[in-house]
Amino acid sequence: MKIVRFAQMKEGIHINNEIIYLLPNGKTLFIRPECIDKMQKYRQVKRNDTEAGGILIGRILIENGHYIIDEVSEPMTTDKRRRTYFKRNMEGHQEFFNSIWDREVGSCFYLGEWHTHPENNPTPSSIDWKNWNRLKRIGFESECLFFIIVGINEMKVWYSEKNSKIIELRRRSSFG
Ligand SMILES: [Zn+2]
Repeated sequence: MKIVRFAQMKEGIHINNEIIYLLPNGKTLFIRPECIDKMQKYRQVKRNDTEAGGILIGRILIENGHYIIDEVSEPMTTDKRRRTYFKRNMEGHQEFFNSIWDREVGSCFYLGEWHTHPENNPTPSSIDWKNWNRLKRIGFESECLFFIIVGINEMKVWYSEKNSKIIELRRRSSFG
C-alpha cells in the first residue's frame, strides 16, 4: 500500500468526542466516532450474526505524534464471513483504501485491522494472534499497528510495535 506517515491535523477534529486509548510511549490513539459507529453496526448481537471486519486507515498528527483512525472499511461481498471466522479479501479493501488515498491526496495510511467477535468481552483467538504477528512481521510503513476486536458489549484495542509484544491498550475517558 502507498503511504504517507505524517499529516497535518485537519480542521474539525474534536478530540473530546473521540474514543481515546493510551499508548505505552505516552502518545494516544484517537478513533473517530463515525468509525466506532461503522464498526458497532456489525456487533454480533443475534445468534446467527457472522463476523465482520476491515482495515483501519489513519494518520499520525504532525503536531504531536498522536495517532488518529479516520476511516474503517466495512465487510465486502468477497470476504469470507462465518459465525467465528472472518477473512477479508484483499482487493475490495485495497480499493477502499485507494479511494480514501485519492480523497486525502495521499495523507493517510494503513493502521491495522478490525473484526467482530460473538462474545461480550472479546479476547483474541489463537488465529488472531497468528494473523496479528504475521501482519507485524510483513513490512508496514507505520511504526506500529492497531488491532480492534468489537465484542457485543465491549470494544478492545491491541497495539503492536515492530520489535515488541502485542499489548492491549487502556482506554482513556478524556484528553488533557
Ligand atoms: Zn478474532
